[in-house]
Amino acid sequence: MRKKILAANWKMNHGVEETQKFFQEFNRHYHINSEIEVVIAPSYLSLQEAVSLNAKKISIAAQNMHWAEKGAFTGEVSVSQIKEAKCTHVILGHSERRHVFHETDEEIQKKVALALTHQMQVILCVGETLEERNQEKTHSVLERQVGSALSVISGAVTIAYEPVWAIGTGQVATPQQAEEAHQSIRKMVWDRFGMDAASNLRILYGGSVKPDNISNLISQPNIDGALVGGASLDPKTFIEILNQMA
Ligand code: PEP
Repeated sequence: MRKKILAANWKMNHGVEETQKFFQEFNRHYHINSEIEVVIAPSYLSLQEAVSLNAKKISIAAQNMHWAEKGAFTGEVSVSQIKEAKCTHVILGHSERRHVFHETDEEIQKKVALALTHQMQVILCVGETLEERNQEKTHSVLERQVGSALSVISGAVTIAYEPVWAIGTGQVATPQQAEEAHQSIRKMVWDRFGMDAASNLRILYGGSVKPDNISNLISQPNIDGALVGGASLDPKTFIEILNQMA
């Protein structure tokens, strides 16, 4: 049985004060459910606040990190720095990193490798654009993104399937579309790393997840959780998604 995950990606939202407000509410209303792992990825400057207010001991993630250990990379943040800030997880290859900041498959591969060397839990995001889907390239895009990012796999890797056309658009993938993509990702991992790796791998869906669409998604056999952006900013909505998943 794969343990479900609900992960929040706050993106460039919630400064220190809003993080305090979020955790005050969240700590009051969230009842620990050992069957679902909860992860929150605040922005770098809110990490410390999130860690210090984390009364329910959820996992804290960084939204990105650099591929070098340290050095002359102005404006970047290293794996040791996010570890020192008490992050246990890191989101890598998010579509905004790929498409807005032009991160390449090669850079993402280097980040994944470095994060795993440092015993970080990696949430690797993959997903096709609308144009790629319309051109029936979804499978080959996923194969390229998964194949190039992972030279090894372990329990420390979770993959998030996030179709770019569904992120922040309100246009959620249908449970069938998501399940089909998750199935093909699991098959890729099976072909490359074997049956155990594939059956233990957790694959999250991300893209306009809300309290009213999570149940149909999570009931699919290959969907092991969700990565949520917009709907994770409000503690009540986020807890409602958790309750629907449970
Ligand atoms: C995301 O940023 O990973 C995401 C899925 O965003 P949203 O839930 O807002 O579509």
